[in-house]
Amino acid sequence: MSADGDKRKAAEALEAGPSKKAATKLLAVNPRRMHELRKGAVEGEGPVIYWMSRDQRVRDNWALLHAAAEASKRGVPVAVAFNLVTQYLGAGARQFGFMVRGLRLMQPKLEALNIPFFLLKGDPVETVPQLVKDTGASLLVTDFASLRLGRQWRDAVAAKLEVPFHEVDAHNVVPAWVASEKREYAARTIRPKIHSKLPEFLTDYPELAPQAAWTCAVNPEAVDWDALIAEVLERGKEVPEVKWCSPGEDAAMEALLGEKGFLGSKARLSYYHEKRNDPTIDALSNLSPYLHFGQLSPQRAAIEAVRKKASNKAAVEGFLEELIVRRELADNYCYYVPNYDSLDAAYDWARNSLDAHRADKREHLYTKEQFEKGLTHDKLWNAAQLEMVHAGKMHGFLRMYWAKKILEWTESPEEALEVSIWLNDKYELDGRDPNGYVGCMWSVAGIHDQGWAERAVFGKIRYMNYAGCKRKFDVDKYVARIAALVRDVQAAAPASAAAGADKKK
Ligand code: FAD
Repeated sequence: MSADGDKRKAAEALEAGPSKKAATKLLAVNPRRMHELRKGAVEGEGPVIYWMSRDQRVRDNWALLHAAAEASKRGVPVAVAFNLVTQYLGAGARQFGFMVRGLRLMQPKLEALNIPFFLLKGDPVETVPQLVKDTGASLLVTDFASLRLGRQWRDAVAAKLEVPFHEVDAHNVVPAWVASEKREYAARTIRPKIHSKLPEFLTDYPELAPQAAWTCAVNPEAVDWDALIAEVLERGKEVPEVKWCSPGEDAAMEALLGEKGFLGSKARLSYYHEKRNDPTIDALSNLSPYLHFGQLSPQRAAIEAVRKKASNKAAVEGFLEELIVRRELADNYCYYVPNYDSLDAAYDWARNSLDAHRADKREHLYTKEQFEKGLTHDKLWNAAQLEMVHAGKMHGFLRMYWAKKILEWTESPEEALEVSIWLNDKYELDGRDPNGYVGCMWSVAGIHDQGWAERAVFGKIRYMNYAGCKRKFDVDKYVARIAALVRDVQAAAPASAAAGADKKK
């Protein structure tokens, strides 16, 4: 097809919304969403196991749909297994609590469809193949992850299996390996590739029907959710939970479509494109925690946004650019660049330029502890840091300013990268995500950006300053807002600590 033809079809897909015809025709899942991690014909009477990892939801989940379709082809049952580790890239009670509470809410939804839920604990490289063996499974399915640790787990599990192992991209609208076969340079290079494939992939989801009864002799052990939640909260108590964001896929749909939700409230969506860089206004979707934990399908968010396009064209287009193009660009980068969080992964122009400015005098230098406590000379930076520490989500515009100042106020770009990733992963509810590694790499090392006018410390890396923020929004209003937030959180702290494990069930 010509480039014009591609463009026209993509525009039609975004205009018309999800294609029902394509969804029915594809039975359940477009086969191009699937990738064989261990090849082989699927046969026998053993059940299908879906090792759920990144996409922690029942509805709108291509990996679960694929597992169910493979099971129903042979009339065998399907089960979901989730492996809980005790440590994951610096996550604390905030992130583990959100995830485990979401899993707890998911279990009855699965069981209502005759799908048992196995909660495994320990090293997935041991527990997952063992479950496959114990249940005599005929196929293992998992969802796609681009980060190193998840890829290592999947590869090691594949090496231990004797049955086929399918990976399904349930996180990207256009599967990562279909969107592009290589590392993309920038949004402008991946955008046309993604847009041209939207007519094929931006389809609605088929409904998941109840599955064949589980007849396997191996059954899941009952999960003591209260005890488990208490355990993860105790282990990660240095970074406590936040209250503004309720976990689970129902809460995620409410945040998307509910009366006060991003698309449900006319006001919020209508100023997304104009006010998204103003942290004093509630214009962002706030969906990132749900997207990160897979409690909301990005494709569902896209489908629902497209439905609002007629009355909110610019806002919806702006949102889809972030939700699809920018987010899928981040997955492209982490998937094709295994050292995605290292300065070595930067382009030559950026590395050379940062190298040339290593010896430049830094006007301010701060330690990790000073950064963490928000003790710099800059009240805007401190407020952004405290928003992240206490609310678990820094405003998107300030994340850029925040990371760029860390570059300006540390001894080296390596240190800046280390500090920004450490803080981001420790405090953000949506941290430990490809978007986070790309955000830090964009800010410090120019990933997906271009060279700008050369200046001290930054070299050709794009610079941001306080005066620019002042021109964009009311800095004092933001600082006052965060001071109030910190006061509220601190005042509520003893009560929430005493509230116990099952408060948020
Ligand atoms: P919205 O503007 O409503 O966007 C909707 C969705 O689009 C987001 O949830 C996200 O999935 C995607 N999106 C938005 N902006 C970007 C972007 N710049 N790049 C890729 N995808 C985007 N995002 C995370 O999800 N986790 C992180 O840990 C994270 N850390 C970041 C660190 C830095 C230094 C920077 C500069 C950016 C970071 N981002 C991160 C990207 C972005 O800031 C957040 O996705 C966004 O602020 C989340 O809020 P929202 O859902 O309300 O955003």
